[in-house]
Amino acid sequence: MIFKLAIATPLYQLFDYLPPLDIESDNIQLGSRVVVPFGRGNHKKIAVLMEITDYSDCEFDKLKRVERIIDQHSLLSAHDLNLLNWVSRYYHHPIGEVISLAFPTALRQGKAAKLAAEKNIQTTELSNAALTSNPAQQTAIDSVCASLGQFAVFLLEGVTGSGKTEVYLQIIHEVLKRGQQVLVLVPEISLTPQLEARFKHRFAVNIAVSHSKLTDNQRQNAWLQAQQGISPILLGTRSALFTPFRNLGLIILDEEHDASFKQQEGVRFSARDTAVVRGKLLNIPVLLGSATPSFESLHNVAKQRYQWLHLPERAGYSIKPVLQLLDIRNKKMREGLSEALLSEICNTLANNEQVLLFLNRRGFAPTLICHSCGWVARCLHCEANLVIHADEALLRCHHCGTEHRLINTCPACKTGELTPLGLGTERVEKVLAKLFADKTILRLDRDSTKRKGTLENYLEQIHQGDVDIILGTQMLAKGHHFPNVTLVAILDVDSGLFSIDFHTAEKLAQLIIQVSGRAGRAEKIGRVLMQTRQPTHPLLTTLIEHGYAQFANSALAERQAAQLPPFSYQALLSARARDAELPPVFLQAIIDLAAQVDNKTVLLLGPAAAPMAKRAGFHRYQLLLQSKQRSDLQALLTTLIPEVAKLKLAAKVRWSLDVDPIDLY
Ligand code: ADP
Ligand code: ZN
Ligand code: ZN
Repeated sequence: MIFKLAIATPLYQLFDYLPPLDIESDNIQLGSRVVVPFGRGNHKKIAVLMEITDYSDCEFDKLKRVERIIDQHSLLSAHDLNLLNWVSRYYHHPIGEVISLAFPTALRQGKAAKLAAEKNIQTTELSNAALTSNPAQQTAIDSVCASLGQFAVFLLEGVTGSGKTEVYLQIIHEVLKRGQQVLVLVPEISLTPQLEARFKHRFAVNIAVSHSKLTDNQRQNAWLQAQQGISPILLGTRSALFTPFRNLGLIILDEEHDASFKQQEGVRFSARDTAVVRGKLLNIPVLLGSATPSFESLHNVAKQRYQWLHLPERAGYSIKPVLQLLDIRNKKMREGLSEALLSEICNTLANNEQVLLFLNRRGFAPTLICHSCGWVARCLHCEANLVIHADEALLRCHHCGTEHRLINTCPACKTGELTPLGLGTERVEKVLAKLFADKTILRLDRDSTKRKGTLENYLEQIHQGDVDIILGTQMLAKGHHFPNVTLVAILDVDSGLFSIDFHTAEKLAQLIIQVSGRAGRAEKIGRVLMQTRQPTHPLLTTLIEHGYAQFANSALAERQAAQLPPFSYQALLSARARDAELPPVFLQAIIDLAAQVDNKTVLLLGPAAAPMAKRAGFHRYQLLLQSKQRSDLQALLTTLIPEVAKLKLAAKVRWSLDVDPIDLY
């Protein structure tokens, strides 16, 4: 008997071991954790049993023996192992590292799977009754409920406040009544206590919660409660996707367009796409929800792979925020605020309503420049400018974190006066404080909410109505609803218009709609003003005049004409090294390898310097693989990637593969 084990190493293989001597062979389950001696030093490692065979390519007397079996009963089911195998194959990542994704830290290290405290199993009790759903909600609920027990993917599209969460809650109730469990995935930042509170308010059951702000112990408890069937509901972020369940009946992914569902390091999986695969393996429905669906999902609706469910109006009333462009060409500006905007702010505040200002750049100003010689404060390690943080009197690189003291005289010409160029939230906050001295202004960005609990505290203040002007970064665009806000302004919409990454237009449109969705309620219409020097830009005019759906249609048509995803499939090979020579040579070697593989349709574009050619001291290059056929791209990668890992240069550069990349930077 040979055990084939997954061990967390960067190698594309399983490892063969002999079973422990005292084993009873019919008792051992696939997915069980075992302890093995590994490598030259025979250090103990935790491994997971993936297969049992009677054959090994290794010489028999070289085979080592499993020391101990940790789990008498595997914590992972055959479905779980299938899913992890799929992730390893599709994202071309070593299975040992993929398997690690499935376990919380302590279990990964071999600790026993014990719950911290015994919990009683609770059933489907409702503690509060559901709302009476409107016809659109009822259609959505009925459609998904009719598919319980079989695979189907639904895209629930509806603006913020249209009642999506209410739809989730009512469908979840049906799943619980069937005695099944539900996995609800949300983006990292929007897992606000409000959502958790809403679930707890509705269901008198044990709701497990898992996200990065919790301790390892808390996350392990949530994991075990789902695995043992103690929690009927698990609410979590991306990494909760691989949690095993006793009897999973439905997966919900809220804000499915959100970029945080794509892991950007390590195993670069898409939680959305992998959730769909999990639904298929388990034969259960998957429900994706968004006010601004991703182009991929809209495309899948058009192809009739996903069923489209629509909530066209805000629940209970039908007033949508009004979007307007504010042409600021040749207009007098005060630190990024036009006079027209300032007077709108005054009017809104005079009505005792709140204003929300959005600027997606933190810090005081993105550039420090010498007025006399043109010297610019650059990061030594990145191809990027240092950002001025006036409050802390620092210059900081937003890419590698390098910090310098803020200086007053130019280090190049020694005489020139240094001027901050451009706008950051700190700078706008200062001018607002001057202009609206008697008002309360709150800045919400990563700097101002660093301390634990600050964000929650700020959100509470906003809801209490203690704040007049809210100023923030994209943190504001996610999950929060501010009913007393009636004026939203996007200060610099133009910075999103020009980018070499084709995903940017989609992200900008989503951001605009998401930000605008934060505002207003029944008796108070929200207005959204966008300051621009490009008032005729087709992206902006289409979005404003025809809405997100029409915008997505025309943008998708452009992608089709250019043969870009979702009309083609991409994978991005990235390489970086301190030595600038190495990455392009390494990527060229990959091209040479690929030339030996039978390949009809895959284009290899590059090697080229990455859009950000240097970061944290590393020179970065990339090679883009693209094909009209997903299967051709996959076939090439399957042959290619294990060979790439064996290249001599692979040990000298840091390289990674991103299948279906959403960020080409
Ligand atoms: P979304 O998740 O799309 O932002 P929610 O489900 O949070 O929308 O609903 C927005 C608001 O409308 C909530 O306050 C919710 O209680 C209320 N609501 C939702 N559905 C209904 C309904 N059928 N009748 C009355 N109020 C509703
Ligand atoms: Zn100078
Ligand atoms: Zn840097």
